[in-house]
Amino acid sequence: MSDHPGDAPPAPPRYRSAEFLTSASKFSQCPPDEGWEVAFAGRSNAGKSSAINSLTNNKKLAKTSRTPGRTQLINFFRLSDSQRLVDLPGYGFAKVPQAVKREWTRQLENYLRQRQCLRGLVLLMDVRHPLQPFDTQMLNWALEASMPVHILLTKADKLKKGPANATLLQVRSQLQAHAELVSVQLFSALKHTGHEQLIAVLDAWLTDASVYEDGEEGAAEA
Ligand code: GDP
Repeated sequence: MSDHPGDAPPAPPRYRSAEFLTSASKFSQCPPDEGWEVAFAGRSNAGKSSAINSLTNNKKLAKTSRTPGRTQLINFFRLSDSQRLVDLPGYGFAKVPQAVKREWTRQLENYLRQRQCLRGLVLLMDVRHPLQPFDTQMLNWALEASMPVHILLTKADKLKKGPANATLLQVRSQLQAHAELVSVQLFSALKHTGHEQLIAVLDAWLTDASVYEDGEEGAAEA
């Protein structure tokens, strides 16, 4: 076991051996805040389940649902003793009662702001509707916490190459002020495009121990 932040970084994760670990409906129910974690978030129907399924090559892992708003829990998937993928609840779906939406929002904010082992956020947006208000809210929370964000412009196969690339450039330029923390790519779970790029980002986040080197919390015992 190598959960200790002072240990050598773990080996590159094997996404295809991902297995369901646990669900939490509140921040307080999350597993111990140790090791390395990367979270996936996106508005309902953004293609989050499809992306996780295609990354892990496991159709059952994050249940793809045609009913927006069904993924209401924070789901944790184990990659190794010290590495996890996290599926954050879908949000921004109109049919969910306001009170429920507010509570999800609160739990998401707690998770993003307080989770020490969270190394980065993958934010998924339909390439045809990028940077909706909820996406901006997630981005702002992450940036306030100086957390890296990798944006997947999903369902890229729905657009021709020209318009898809134009959207990519437009989103990049809108976020240029945060280029140190934010990266953007096109992705299609259907056509399996953008996988290598995503895996390179995840590998770096899930194996890079450098944030602990400057005396951040957890490094003291190293
Ligand atoms: P989630 O609510 O974010 O988990 O979204 P899902 O993964 O369930 O996807 C929502 C819908 O978009 C489903 O009908 C998927 O089949 C479809 N979808 C997801 N990814 C892609 C993609 O890369 N290309 C296309 N054309 N459709 C996709």
